[in-house]
Amino acid sequence: MDFAGWLLLADLMHEDVERVLITEEVIEKRLGVIAKKIQRDFASEEQLQVVGILKGALVFMADLLRRVPLRLEIECLNVASYHGGIESTGRVDFLDQKLPEVKGRCVLLIDDILDTGQTLEAVSRRLIKMGAREVKTCVLLTKDKPRATEVEADYSAFKIEAEFVVGYGLDYGGRYRNLPYVGVLKPNVIK
Ligand code: 5GP
Ligand code: MG
Repeated sequence: MDFAGWLLLADLMHEDVERVLITEEVIEKRLGVIAKKIQRDFASEEQLQVVGILKGALVFMADLLRRVPLRLEIECLNVASYHGGIESTGRVDFLDQKLPEVKGRCVLLIDDILDTGQTLEAVSRRLIKMGAREVKTCVLLTKDKPRATEVEADYSAFKIEAEFVVGYGLDYGGRYRNLPYVGVLKPNVIK
């Protein structure tokens, strides 16, 4: 494909967005603040294990952790709760055959968004059961709504209204994760 053709395709993704909620610049600034907090809070931790929840946390995690100069280790795990739609199903499936080794370690669990809270709660519980000494949670977004579970993130970059968002790691039907900002899709795009 020639360059003009590529540009046309690249434009299509942005054309599906109705509103930008959080710009790239704003995200970048806020990550600096969160990273400093994490650095300070875990400075004495020799065994810090970061566990990111794929695929949503991918972009956030990469940008955040490059600002945290601690000697940490990164693991990822796959869970599914949305199954392609725009509503949480309430069921959290662990998709990996083997989960990260966390026995005796302090874990920083990273996800893209805290919605119903079921994902963070299920994964935290599992990590504790696997022998993690402590689990702290970190999300890019927290939805402002009542939650079924008591769980709140220890670190949250932004609070947003309870609406479906995409970008900066968050998808709709597998797409839009590579949008550099967080936004809301046009209604005609959501089926
Ligand atoms: P929870 O278990 O807290 O209900 O949902 C957490 C997971 O649901 C997140 O990791 C994310 O994958 C997905 N999710 C929740 N809200 C949204 C949203 O507004 N947009 C997208 N794309 N995914 C969401
Ligand atoms: Mg997710």
